[in-house]
Amino acid sequence: MTKRLLKEQAANLALRLRIDAGLNENEPIHMKGLLLKLGVLTRYRPLSETAYGLSLQTSDKRHKFMLINSNSTRGRQHFTAAHELFHLYFDASPTPHVCRSDVEKPQSERDADTFASCLLMPAQGILGEVPQTELKTAISVATLLRLEQLFAVSHEAMVYRLRSLSLIAESDVAKLLNLAIIDVARANGYDVSLYKSGNENVTLGDFGSNARKLFEQEKISEGHYFELLNQISGGE
Ligand SMILES: [Zn+2]
Repeated sequence: MTKRLLKEQAANLALRLRIDAGLNENEPIHMKGLLLKLGVLTRYRPLSETAYGLSLQTSDKRHKFMLINSNSTRGRQHFTAAHELFHLYFDASPTPHVCRSDVEKPQSERDADTFASCLLMPAQGILGEVPQTELKTAISVATLLRLEQLFAVSHEAMVYRLRSLSLIAESDVAKLLNLAIIDVARANGYDVSLYKSGNENVTLGDFGSNARKLFEQEKISEGHYFELLNQISGGE
């Protein structure tokens, strides 16, 4: 059995990817910019309800692709993209699969989630944004919201991350998850697009090749990505 990825290892891999992409250790990630920089051809489109996304690369690793469910919230889409980056860059034994919410997660899926959490919400980056007084007591909802907006992640992802950093008590988790976050964010004057779906039919990346055409003709779908992989790697 493969050993699970430890939090420290995940943080190190996340740091390596940040440095390779010219980002510093703690800054919030602008995901579309990162995907463009890394040259990962990314397509956002509606997938089945429980699917988050999938990724694949040609056998020579020169071309990397990602498909993200545009029905997920934008915050969740960022997490999915970060999860897929783990598969593309660090997964020791990548097996083509659709990453989804409705199955018991195998180890590689949990590792990809741990990595995604570290990449998007670096510990020091978060700590640096929490007021000193709240570090000693409890994090306020205003700070929680601000962190979500700053690091562009879903409410759930930030609550779990703060819990794993021991910044939120276990006894507060359920209450915080139950907040009507869109209403609270709106009442605090924030743009709520983070908590809504979007990006339908957006394609990132400049391929000008077969691959782009295939994506745009909708030839890639959850059921068709093996076919795509064959066509792309056979067409070079
Ligand atoms: Zn996955």
